[in-house]
Amino acid sequence: MDTADPAPEPALAVIEGGGSGPAGAASSSQPDDSLAYVSFAVKYSGSMLSVRLGEDDCVADLKAILYSLTDVPPASQKLLGITRGKPPSDDTLVGSIPFAPSALKPRPQNAPGQPQEPAGPAATDKVQVSFMLLGTPEADRFQDPSGTIKFAEDLEDRLAGDIDYAQQQEAVKTAVPPDQDPKNLRKLEKVIARFSNFSVMNEPRAGKRLLVLDLDYTIADTKRLLDPASPASVAARPGLHDFLAAAYRDYDICVWSQTSWRWLEVKLIELGMIGHDQFNISFVLDRTPMFSITAPGGKKHEVKPLELIWRRWPDLYGPHNTIHVDDLSRNGAINPKNICKIRAYKDAPRFDTELQAVLKLLRQLAHPSITDFRDVDLKAWKHFQGAEKQD
Ligand SMILES: [Mg+2]
Repeated sequence: MDTADPAPEPALAVIEGGGSGPAGAASSSQPDDSLAYVSFAVKYSGSMLSVRLGEDDCVADLKAILYSLTDVPPASQKLLGITRGKPPSDDTLVGSIPFAPSALKPRPQNAPGQPQEPAGPAATDKVQVSFMLLGTPEADRFQDPSGTIKFAEDLEDRLAGDIDYAQQQEAVKTAVPPDQDPKNLRKLEKVIARFSNFSVMNEPRAGKRLLVLDLDYTIADTKRLLDPASPASVAARPGLHDFLAAAYRDYDICVWSQTSWRWLEVKLIELGMIGHDQFNISFVLDRTPMFSITAPGGKKHEVKPLELIWRRWPDLYGPHNTIHVDDLSRNGAINPKNICKIRAYKDAPRFDTELQAVLKLLRQLAHPSITDFRDVDLKAWKHFQGAEKQD
């Protein structure tokens, strides 16, 4: 890390979380209106980050926020000094981490005998915890000439692999589907409460449908994209700009990638997707609002909850007019009727017609005869015979 901090003026980044209301506290023994918070002061690479979470948030939530702030992927984050012994596991609730005594800073004004009162969040901060974050940001890894390229999607791939929910539903009939599991729905509400104010690059257009596009291995071969010796045009999936320009006529476009915002922006610029004259990206989402669920087989993986978007623009987008295109079907496990799983684009083959096939589907879905995308079986999307909307 060089000493010139990439964020010159704010030495202190503040991210607040938690306080997600009744849904978030359902498993807690506390009443809903007295959610307690934990403040973290995180020393990282010469700066101080301030993060605040509810006691019923988990370590994975903390790591996701730190990822967004520092670009250090959760799997390589070391939270130094947070506990005395073993580091807390990702599903440990923040309120039950056995903090090291040296990490705790008591709040003097909180008299021990004081009854709980419905005050502002700051008054309910239970403890303040200081620790140090160690880890290498993704961008630095990519430039390591000897290093093997590792990033979120690849790391997770090795841990979980993709999970074909379409096939699983037969095998695991007794399991509660992820989109109906109350535990997941509680997590969803927390994510919506915390992250629905994401920034918008181009305002949504009335009357358009919504295309949610994955980035890594969906619209580009990420390994190639990150190879300094290879031009970005080689990494882009063939026909990418034509695809986006054609899709944009009927769809607002969101790019949702399991990476940190900082890195996502670099990739989009490299791919020539910002400032194009034939299409606009409406908004982008990074890993921060993704959350982890447990698949019927017991494996954990993260999902991209479309509800986060629908709740923000209920008059514009919903399950009836949203399609999520991704090379990993597990990313859509929480919205199984809206996910269109496509072939991963790896090793940058020059002949690839997947985006043309997706465009045909987008035109079919945009045809006036389709009033609800969920009526189309997207699991077999290549076999769909619907009429295409003409320009
Ligand atoms: Mg992908």
